[in-house]
Amino acid sequence: MTDSTVAPAPGVSASPLAPEWLSLPSDVNALRGQEWARDVVRHPAGELAVDGVSVHHLAEEFGTPLFVVSEADFRARAVEFRDRFNEAFAPVCGGVDVYYAGKSFLCTEVARWVLSEGLRLDTCSGGELLVAQRAGVPGELLGLHGNNKSAAEIRRALQMGVGRIVADSLPEIELINTLAAEQGVRAKVMLRLTPGVHAHTHEFIATAHEDQKFGLSLMAGGNNSDRNPAGQNVAEPSPAEQAVLAAHAAEHLELLGIHCHIGSNIFDAEGFALAARRLLAFSAQMRDVHGIELAEVDLGGGYGIAYTEADTPRPTAEIAQAMAEVVASECASLGLVPPRISIEPGRAIVGPSTFTLYEVGTIKTIQVDLEQGHGATAPRRYVSVDGGMSDNPRQVLYEADYSVTLANRASHAAPVLSRVVGKHCESGDIVVRDAYLPDDVTAGDLLAVPATGAYCWSLASNYNYVPRPPVVAVKDGAARIIVRGETDDDLLSRDPGA
Ligand SMILES: *Cc1c(COP(=O)(O)O)cnc(C)c1O
Repeated sequence: MTDSTVAPAPGVSASPLAPEWLSLPSDVNALRGQEWARDVVRHPAGELAVDGVSVHHLAEEFGTPLFVVSEADFRARAVEFRDRFNEAFAPVCGGVDVYYAGKSFLCTEVARWVLSEGLRLDTCSGGELLVAQRAGVPGELLGLHGNNKSAAEIRRALQMGVGRIVADSLPEIELINTLAAEQGVRAKVMLRLTPGVHAHTHEFIATAHEDQKFGLSLMAGGNNSDRNPAGQNVAEPSPAEQAVLAAHAAEHLELLGIHCHIGSNIFDAEGFALAARRLLAFSAQMRDVHGIELAEVDLGGGYGIAYTEADTPRPTAEIAQAMAEVVASECASLGLVPPRISIEPGRAIVGPSTFTLYEVGTIKTIQVDLEQGHGATAPRRYVSVDGGMSDNPRQVLYEADYSVTLANRASHAAPVLSRVVGKHCESGDIVVRDAYLPDDVTAGDLLAVPATGAYCWSLASNYNYVPRPPVVAVKDGAARIIVRGETDDDLLSRDPGA
């Protein structure tokens, strides 16, 4: 990898349309390591390769668009979470259980990687449970989430002997109890609580009442307004407390503990720490007031990753250490036996392990009016690729930024501010909003967009009847399909008239 901090060549200047965070690269061929799987390199001849397989081979064999996962990188990140969190928490509570959040990206192969590295698996639907079952994941290593689980999903979880169902509401506690009774089993449940901490990337917001659909509030009158429309009866126990009492009393439930998940792509430990403090204080209160011990606390997922040069996630070890210190000191001051801790990273394991390979098609340069430019304009180059919002809807959904590089060759041309767009009938169909690509990018070139492992394939759609791309795993110089791409027959298979 080349150093990109050297001054750009004379005569090349930043575009006035570029966002502030985007720097003009001195070398458009350089890969910033933080955004890429560890075994992605640019060969001296100029082409990108992952674990010994070059991108033109991948494009020839599997076509584009293509999701390319480095198996070694995925496994390394899974092991990193397992080991750094276990090291940090060993002196506090013996260690942690790490659940990979399957909703970020799941197929049977990935479920097996997770299992073989000693992690567990979180699911949030009957379909995700089915993938886990087909992959042979033992039920006791699975969790099931969801704010509106169907009876069928809960039944499936109970039949599979799922290790924990994370109950999200008071009616659901009753439903799980009823269905467990029907099956003659005792369901293991955690309770999803809302600690009043929302976090996203660099900020977190601490509130009392949370205005969102998940979980059971720690605040009296928190989210049972059907019973307490004016929110005045402060003597009524919080939904969280009611849930603990209900789950503890339910004959067919075993209450394991409490859970929270405060947000996504979080870069600092403070949000996690505050949520942990609030959950531990609640645990101590349940012990003191009701004599109920909550043996487990899950602190959720949401660990941030680098999508662009603007992102600087903290090392896993640092976050783990910070969280372990908070749990240790909080338990000491509450006189609480430290609970078993679990976490649920998704994005931080699979996100950076994967890039998407596209082929360039149409290129247009638009003269864009500059704000207060008094008639001045600046060029923006639109580079169209053969995928788009159907394989990566994150720009459209969350205004997520990505980076991109020319993948099939190196270039000595000047960097030009470019926008990588898809092929869909939608002007918002953007993959990479702002990036510098070399001036000589042309139709037929390959572009690689890094950090697309999480919430891209799993959120993919068939918009415009565009088939969803395959996913290949690369390992030790060989690539293999782990999810095949859709065919015309797949696209038509549900239309009885086709
Ligand atoms: C989405 C989710 C996760 C994983 O979040 P990441 O940002 O992918 O780490 C973990 N737990 C729960 C309950 C979730 O909903």
